[in-house]
Amino acid sequence: MAALLWFRRDLRLRDLPPLLAAADDGDVLACFVLDPRLEALRARRRLQFLYDSLRHLRDALDGRLLVTRGLPEHQIPLIARDIDASAVHVSDDFAPFGARRDTRVRAALGEIPLVATGSPYLVSPGRVTTDDGAPYRVFTPFFRKWQEIGWHSPARSGPDSVRWLDPGSVAGTAVQRCDIPDPGVRLDLPAGEAAAVRRWGDFVRDGLQRYATDRDYPDRSGTSRMSAYLKFGAIHPRTMVADLDLRHRGPRAYLRQLAFRDFYAAVLHHRPDSAWGNWNRDFDAIETDTGDDAQQLFAAWKAGETGFPIVDAGMRQLRATGFMPNRVRMITASFLVKDLHLPWQWGAQWFLEQLVDGDIANNQHGWQWCAGSGTDAAPYFRVFNPTVQGEKFDPTGDYVRHWIPELASADDAHLRKGQRPPTYPPPIVDHGLERAEALRRYQRVRES
Ligand SMILES: Cc1cc2nc3c(=O)[nH]c(=O)nc-3n(C[C@H](O)[C@H](O)[C@H](O)COP(=O)(O)OP(=O)(O)OC[C@H]3O[C@@H](n4cnc5c(N)ncnc54)[C@H](O)[C@@H]3O)c2cc1C
Repeated sequence: MAALLWFRRDLRLRDLPPLLAAADDGDVLACFVLDPRLEALRARRRLQFLYDSLRHLRDALDGRLLVTRGLPEHQIPLIARDIDASAVHVSDDFAPFGARRDTRVRAALGEIPLVATGSPYLVSPGRVTTDDGAPYRVFTPFFRKWQEIGWHSPARSGPDSVRWLDPGSVAGTAVQRCDIPDPGVRLDLPAGEAAAVRRWGDFVRDGLQRYATDRDYPDRSGTSRMSAYLKFGAIHPRTMVADLDLRHRGPRAYLRQLAFRDFYAAVLHHRPDSAWGNWNRDFDAIETDTGDDAQQLFAAWKAGETGFPIVDAGMRQLRATGFMPNRVRMITASFLVKDLHLPWQWGAQWFLEQLVDGDIANNQHGWQWCAGSGTDAAPYFRVFNPTVQGEKFDPTGDYVRHWIPELASADDAHLRKGQRPPTYPPPIVDHGLERAEALRRYQRVRES
């Protein structure tokens, strides 16, 4: 008896329920399918992180990972039949692309069941509902119910939980093995399960207690940087939550952010159209700019050349590293929507291209929160003032000085009082005027 364990966004061996489910079916072949549709994405850093994660997984399996390329609905049935698998085991994928893919694979497998055990979330999308069975539209009651439902303790799986099949001895001629690509992109975080566990341990020791107070300050590096590991399942949030002592403020604040991750996955699961369309359809009527001038403003925003220091620092950090702290994501997103009046989808697309942790649920709903079109979004009429935000959350100016060399020696990095160095661009818009314009456009939506 044999089973196929198909890895996707769960690139680890510890706390992996489908691994234990596969072990019950006999010897296990581990495989990963490089999907050309995903490989074609303009997201080089994320692909590098994925490929590096795969290399670590393969090493942890002593090389016993079959990597092949093609459409999963072709490759998975071929491999499953090749080893005469009684089942194909996966961790469930609720994102729109993954859900559609799995439907096709399930159909192509015919008699062989595709068995999903667990998911990348603490509570899987679809499980947290109101008493009437409806999805929550607001985070706070979701959070309450989510905690009531709760989750299992970590699954006791590991590399020795199963007898692994050697891909070399089983792959038939129909299944082409391939190398894991290496685009040669440099990343500022190492990939893989061991790195995830190490980083989490360091954060629990050195950062967690300060998390509630430091998380909004980009110059303090007060967050965990676990997002890319969570995105690719190098660690399960269950493993992390087991380390949270909820009597303390820092761990409680951290749990809340993990709940946001589950919330947005659930929202997208219930409304797959909200990946690229407004969750609140009233916002379909909002006027956005899309002409040549808009394109120029967009180019300045992407390049970090808007003349607003905190916005430019964030955009330059994103471009240089593929990461941006949450507070700065909010400021830069708000600026694109409410100061430049561009469609949030433009910004979301750029983020997805740049971010190592780019995730369709968190990103699109993070954007919609800022744009006012999402679930319990920031009220549209509350327009961030980028200079005030900069002064408040980067009070020393160190974050701005680090990412904007033109301002490296400025006394007043947020340029409230100080001289603007001639090498640094003037503001591309007048915030006061654009704020009024944003409110005017919003008022028209309300009136219609
Ligand atoms: C416009 C915008 C776009 C975003 N795009 C993404 C994205 O593509 N991928 C992504 O993982 N997060 C995204 N976020 C959420 C958040 O900014 C990142 O998760 C966070 O900055 C990652 O850094 P960290 O791991 O140090 O976070 P920490 O503060 O240490 O948080 C721990 C974990 O909780 C989760 N989390 C934290 N904040 C949020 C949040 N607001 N929404 C959902 N989950 C959260 C993440 O998995 C994160 O790794 C976005 C937020 C905004 C405002």
